[in-house]
Amino acid sequence: MRTPIIAGNWKMFKTIAEAKKFAEEAKAGSDIAGVQKVICAPYTALSALSEALQGSGLALGAQNMHFEEQGAFTGEISPSMLKEIGVEYVIIGHSERRQYFNETDETVNKKVLAALKHGLVPILCVGESLEQREAGETAKVVRTQTEAALAGLEAEQVADVVIAYEPIWAIGTGKSSSAQEANETIAVIRQVIAERFGQDAGARVRIQYGGSVKPENIASYLSQPDIDGALVGGASLDAASYLQLVKGS
Ligand code: PEP
Repeated sequence: MRTPIIAGNWKMFKTIAEAKKFAEEAKAGSDIAGVQKVICAPYTALSALSEALQGSGLALGAQNMHFEEQGAFTGEISPSMLKEIGVEYVIIGHSERRQYFNETDETVNKKVLAALKHGLVPILCVGESLEQREAGETAKVVRTQTEAALAGLEAEQVADVVIAYEPIWAIGTGKSSSAQEANETIAVIRQVIAERFGQDAGARVRIQYGGSVKPENIASYLSQPDIDGALVGGASLDAASYLQLVKGS
């Protein structure tokens, strides 16, 4: 039995004051059970949120990190710096980072390994572009990205990874993949994991869908057998909307 996980990705939105306000409002959903709730906030808000989220039932996530412990990497944040302030999850390889910040399959792999080493849960993002989709390459792309990102993991570590299947053309565009199509691609990812790490790992790993998920459409995704939650951008910025997503799961 896989517990669904609804993770909000705030991207580059919210000041500390705005983040604290969200945390207060989100406490209204503290008694919602059976679903894991996570908010991935900008670095500057993490420390304040770590306190402000107490009693809300929401766990704290970051949106990126470096894979090294420390060093001359101006502008970067290490896994232990995140751990120190109560971060439990970290998004790795979001398509916006792959697209705008030169994130590669190789750096994504290093970050997944580093996150696990430090006891952080990586939310690993994979997904195809519109061009790749139209060329019929979706399954090939997610296979390549998944295999590369998980290279070097032990089979028992795979259940500690959350994967987010996010078709790039559906992120922030209002265009979402149909629930059935998303489920088919997620089943491919699960199969890749079963081939590489065994049936047990394939059955246990949680795989979310992401891409224009809203309170109105979340139930259709979560009714699919292979979809274990959602990674949500825009609709996670408002606490009432986020709580509706959680309730809809
Ligand atoms: C995301 O940021 O990962 C995302 C899926 O964004 P949105 O829900 O806004 O499409």
